[in-house]
Amino acid sequence: MINIVLFGPPGSGKGTQAKFLEEKFNLKQLSTGDMFRFNLKNQTELGKLAQSYMDQGHLVPDEVTTNMLRDELKKHTGYSGFIFDGYPRTTTQAESLDVILKEDLGQEVKICLSLKVDDEVLVGRLLERGKESGRADDANEEVIRERIVEYYKKTDEVAEHYKAQGKYAEVNGVGEIAEITANLSAEIEKFV
Ligand code: AMP
Repeated sequence: MINIVLFGPPGSGKGTQAKFLEEKFNLKQLSTGDMFRFNLKNQTELGKLAQSYMDQGHLVPDEVTTNMLRDELKKHTGYSGFIFDGYPRTTTQAESLDVILKEDLGQEVKICLSLKVDDEVLVGRLLERGKESGRADDANEEVIRERIVEYYKKTDEVAEHYKAQGKYAEVNGVGEIAEITANLSAEIEKFV
């Protein structure tokens, strides 16, 4: 299986790129942000718990997020691999993902692909997205900036986890969407 961690700050284009890569390589995108939004919409206990964190631009606690991801992972079969979008976001989550893939599927992460985008470009993109997406956390510049702060405080270091395993590559996340997909695909093709 080609299990990919699609990595980068909020607004770097992970979700957009995941959709193209899913189709091209028969992969299943697993977005923890989408899972939380689904729970929020349906007002589940998990959704209610996550809301306070999401509204402030903070991360939901590791254990809650990892349990949710682990449950979801079991539901999908028949794919050539998974694209993890928005997970792992802490070193603890990265370590958990290694364990889960090994214990539940006998698998591992093949590559962490990191989309590089400047902070001010991110803010602009997220404000634009907020006009259409209806996402509360995209509509408020203060929350957007807090998410970026949270990214540098807790998430950026996840790259080290994959660098140490020799499983890390960077791709420029600014430019034509198709060109970025092609650059990501070139990295993935090394494993196909
Ligand atoms: P996203 O759609 O990936 O930008 O995620 C939206 C929000 O969901 C984040 O700001 C967090 O509050 C929460 N969230 C998503 N993924 C994670 C994760 N892996 N760990 C903790 N919180 C997360």
